[in-house]
Amino acid sequence: MDQGTKICPNCGTKMAINAEICPKCGAMQAQPMGGYTTGPAPVQPQVQSRKKSGAFLLWGWLSAVVSLFIPLVGIASIVLGILTIRNKHVAAGVVLLVAAVIFIFWGMTGFAQGLFGAM
Ligand SMILES: [Zn+2]
Repeated sequence: MDQGTKICPNCGTKMAINAEICPKCGAMQAQPMGGYTTGPAPVQPQVQSRKKSGAFLLWGWLSAVVSLFIPLVGIASIVLGILTIRNKHVAAGVVLLVAAVIFIFWGMTGFAQGLFGAM
């Protein structure tokens, strides 16, 4: 099988695979795969990153709550807060970072345990 040629659908003449016009009849040729295809618009990367930063925020808050009892887990929520900021959700990320630091502090001082122990 000769990969370098194609057949004109109009007259059946063999020609180079990248030929745009048939050398015999002059018919316009379809571009090979990967050429100038006009398919549907590619998926917007913005949507993907927004979805991702939502997950960062969710896990960040979950680990922030856990850090009330296990302060080490708060490191994860700080990292997730930074990731949220880097995904252009600066306000949400800063709120998470501040909350994580406060929660870690509470977790380390035993404030949270005292608070929940009193209930
Ligand atoms: Zn032709």
